[in-house]
Amino acid sequence: MLFDDLQLLREVLGGLQLLAVMRDGTGKIDYCNEPFLRATGYALDEVRGKDWFELFVPADQREVRRLEESELRGISEQAILTRSGESRHIRWTLTPLRDHDGKTIGSAGVGADVTALKHDPFHDPLTGLPNRALFIDRLSHRLALEQRRPRASFAVLFLDIDRFKVINDSLGHVRGDEVLLEVGRRLQSCLRPHDTVARLGGDEFGVLLEDVPDAPTARKVADRLQDALKAPFIVHGQEIFCGASIGIAQGNATYARPEDIMRDADTALYRAKGQGRGRWVEFDSTMHDRAVELLQLETDLRRAVERRELLLHYQPVVSLSSGEIVGAEALIRWRHPDRGLVAPAEFIPLAEEMGLIVPIGAWVLGEACRQMKLWQDRLGPPNLEIGVNLSSKQFQAPGLVAEVGRVLRDTGLSPRSLRLEVTESLLMDRHPQVADAMTGLRAMGVRIDLDDFGTGYSSLSYLHQFPIDTLKIDRSFIARLGTTADGLEIVHTILALAQSLDMDVVAEGVETAEQLQLLRNLHCAYAQGYYLSRPVDSDDFEALLGERRSWAA
Ligand code: C2E
Ligand code: MG
Ligand code: MG
Repeated sequence: MLFDDLQLLREVLGGLQLLAVMRDGTGKIDYCNEPFLRATGYALDEVRGKDWFELFVPADQREVRRLEESELRGISEQAILTRSGESRHIRWTLTPLRDHDGKTIGSAGVGADVTALKHDPFHDPLTGLPNRALFIDRLSHRLALEQRRPRASFAVLFLDIDRFKVINDSLGHVRGDEVLLEVGRRLQSCLRPHDTVARLGGDEFGVLLEDVPDAPTARKVADRLQDALKAPFIVHGQEIFCGASIGIAQGNATYARPEDIMRDADTALYRAKGQGRGRWVEFDSTMHDRAVELLQLETDLRRAVERRELLLHYQPVVSLSSGEIVGAEALIRWRHPDRGLVAPAEFIPLAEEMGLIVPIGAWVLGEACRQMKLWQDRLGPPNLEIGVNLSSKQFQAPGLVAEVGRVLRDTGLSPRSLRLEVTESLLMDRHPQVADAMTGLRAMGVRIDLDDFGTGYSSLSYLHQFPIDTLKIDRSFIARLGTTADGLEIVHTILALAQSLDMDVVAEGVETAEQLQLLRNLHCAYAQGYYLSRPVDSDDFEALLGERRSWAA
């Protein structure tokens, strides 16, 4: 009976994946079991007779652990190093081994590998890089050192991936994560081991550069990081281009807290993004003023709505076959009391962030429809159309379809005269509300145009699933017409695609006679751009309509 019990116990223990180690009184390894060897990557003869602490314990913990483990009692959780230098977390139960006289001659340890369960408060689980907390910790050590012995020899870089939101929205989070992982790898490969790269959150990374004697050195590193991120990312066989913006803050002894230098790097980063991405900007103290200015802008924007400082400009959409104006795109402007006319790029993103885009968008829609109905009644052909840009945020908010219906009723504009412009990222929005709203609008007779086509990452095979009437080719493609050989080929391909999907095409941003001619040759149906007319205020647009302005070939 006893024998059977032992046999059973052996079988049970044999099947367990617990790690077992025996050491002698001096810490020399006497025995390790198979699971232990597997977990650490060693063969038995490589470890037998070796000092446990030398081989498996990280150097900075050796002395403490030698002391702790001489007590040989209880359960403890420890990091050990594998043959390849990785660290694994083991939860050990240590038992002393004694001779017949009760004298301790060594120890036996049984442990479970809990690395996978280990929640690490200082590393980002996705990339394995230090997280914000560890970054701040390292930075505060560095600042303390600087105050004792100023050398001005470090710098903090904040880095943000350009267009990451587009990648995430259109390709999904899984692929977005893969891009982040690869970004982390590339950044690390550009830096020296004693520099710190951390993932601060989202698509933002922080770098603490050591030994940066002067500003040009930090700039050179910023260049190198940006170059490393320019090469395409291959995610599931798809090439993705992203690039990054960087803010640089040079360290010095006047910084008392990590937050201060991080704030300055962040301010510089914000500035870099504002200057059109793919750049680095160094912090200088005048930038504080800019941050204050931005806060002021927010306050002003809130008031702009009540104070009726918003207005619409209109840019004609021209038929390339008849040369006539077939419609207008409504483009918002802000007449700021001190700054003059502010362009939408400067305040629409802010309005989206502040949640103000929904009331502003509602105003644009109402005003554009009212104006178009007036023109139709007074002088235009009754089928003149108005294009209104919608932010994705307006689709996510409830009630968009009802709102559009109400505006059409109130203004008397036919649904056939209204075109709503959406961007590719909206198509990738899995929000059920989005698809419902699109279907609802289409059912009402309103048409939907895909704006800035070609700048997102919507997969072409996707397009036919959405009720889209028109592709508006982004102006970056039109700009390449006539200057590069592939420019023509790309536009040609988009036109063929649109035809096969039974969609119309508007070429955006036509700036030269040559571009217009090339588009005509390609049988593109509609165009818009400075060469035809800049966006103009309602009086000037009315004048264009009144004089029956035409751009016939
Ligand atoms: P978008 O909808 O793609 O509008 C076209 C933009 O290109 C306009 O800039 C227009 O002025 C500009 N543009 C037109 N022709 C040319 C050209 O030949 N060359 C160049 N370089 N640019 C040209 P704008 O008015 O500054 O508007 C920028 C963006 O702001 C718009 O891009 C649209 O996405 C957004 N936006 C404008 N109004 C509204 C609005 O009422 N609501 C929302 N949500 N977004 C708006
Ligand atoms: Mg548009
Ligand atoms: Mg556009």
